[in-house]
Amino acid sequence: MLTSATAQREVDAAGIAQLIEERLGEREGLPPAADPAPAFALLLIRLAPHDGGRLLLPTPSNLALLADLRGRLAGALRGEDRFSVLGINEIAVFLARVRSASVARLAMHHLKRALTLRGETDGEMREVHPAIGGAMPSAGTRCAEQLAAAAESACRTASGKEDRLHLQVDGGSGPDRSELVPELRAAIEGNRLEVHYQPLFSFAHRRCTTVEALVRWPRAAGRQPVAPDAVVDIARQHGLIQGLTRFVLNTALREIGGMAPSGIGLGVAVNLSPALFGDADLPETVAQALSVWGVAAERLTLEITEASDIGDSAAAMDAMARLRTLGARLSIDDFGTGYSSLARLRAMPLAELKIDRLFVANMNRSRADLQIVRTAIDLAHNFELEVVAEGAEDEPTVRHLHRLGCDAVQGFFIARPMPAQSLRAWWGSQPDCRAWMDSPPQG
Ligand code: C2E
Ligand code: MG
Ligand code: MG
Repeated sequence: MLTSATAQREVDAAGIAQLIEERLGEREGLPPAADPAPAFALLLIRLAPHDGGRLLLPTPSNLALLADLRGRLAGALRGEDRFSVLGINEIAVFLARVRSASVARLAMHHLKRALTLRGETDGEMREVHPAIGGAMPSAGTRCAEQLAAAAESACRTASGKEDRLHLQVDGGSGPDRSELVPELRAAIEGNRLEVHYQPLFSFAHRRCTTVEALVRWPRAAGRQPVAPDAVVDIARQHGLIQGLTRFVLNTALREIGGMAPSGIGLGVAVNLSPALFGDADLPETVAQALSVWGVAAERLTLEITEASDIGDSAAAMDAMARLRTLGARLSIDDFGTGYSSLARLRAMPLAELKIDRLFVANMNRSRADLQIVRTAIDLAHNFELEVVAEGAEDEPTVRHLHRLGCDAVQGFFIARPMPAQSLRAWWGSQPDCRAWMDSPPQG
């Protein structure tokens, strides 16, 4: 029997192609962005048994198995994701909102876990050990076929790998980012990265109380800029993330801590890549940086993206507990994009939850996104966490977030990320919030 989730999320193969074409079409007419963050992914899942080669034949028991897998898949996907059973051995999945390669990888792990089976049913041994190949579009991806070819090639690669997962992030067409590695390594080692700061406006304090530190890679004249998400992805994939994070943490504490004597008392939030939580020295590195720059731990927030499964690892939970004991605040970033369970959220020693900008940007146009924002605010407050909305781009959104009880907002309406020098000037002339906190909307 079809569950309603299965009925809602299953489409035919043409439906998947159409979804991809629509999303690629949205970029038509836009200026060729230097390195746009890919926003969706196509996965190809092969349901071959563990030995790899043997295909499943459409026997009644295999068809029953496939029905079971369809239900599991529908249950594991999120609202706008879609899947299509291409044949008894293959399923295509369209992941509608995937902000970065890390999110896609997490989703792939999640689906693999949901579809992996081994056991006896009705006296018959059943084993499903899927291989999952994923492809994300790049600026050069022009059509659904191109992406499908990339997903197929990724799936072949995945079949030969021990973890049976492989993601290709350039849609089969983009630049080979490994070429950037030596240059990025030199920039990190030579302290040539920069940090920009984006203010978070606190409704209770009626002013900006914290800034988020965001890495920037200024490249030599004539070289294409690389988006921060991509810089972080390259650093993570090539063992440079520790150096990058140490640079951002120390620069942020030095620059923002250094503003206190001028009366600019700000907290600072630093993004921590989930991979760092495997590093036993992380709490010590953070403690040292706080002591070197004389900043109280309470003024430091560490953001961990929700698109990670660190809540599943004992070592990561231990690192989080030590950071919390130190006094630093822990925050879940990009909330709503990940696959975290309530149990996992509750187990983490969090102070804050940040709602992803995808939902905030659309909350005044989409009832579904508004509902997600509202639910996230209530959820955070029920867990006694503060809640920040990211990506507030206009006044109606800020007003609405205030009415919904959100604690703080971050977004282009308040200010764009800026260098430390500009932040000093901005601080002195912060926007007058009375216009949008106290008075009714105009018109
Ligand atoms: P994030 O941590 O979620 O940071 C917020 C991102 O949203 C920033 O992008 C910011 O510029 C953007 N943003 C803020 N308000 C608005 C708005 O109103 N509209 C729109 N369209 N965008 C807005 P940015 O600087 O490009 O950084 C992207 C991501 O790269 C960050 O997302 C974070 O995940 C990662 N990142 C940046 N710096 C670091 C770092 O030092 N370490 C790590 N691990 N990741 C970093
Ligand atoms: Mg962040
Ligand atoms: Mg975020």
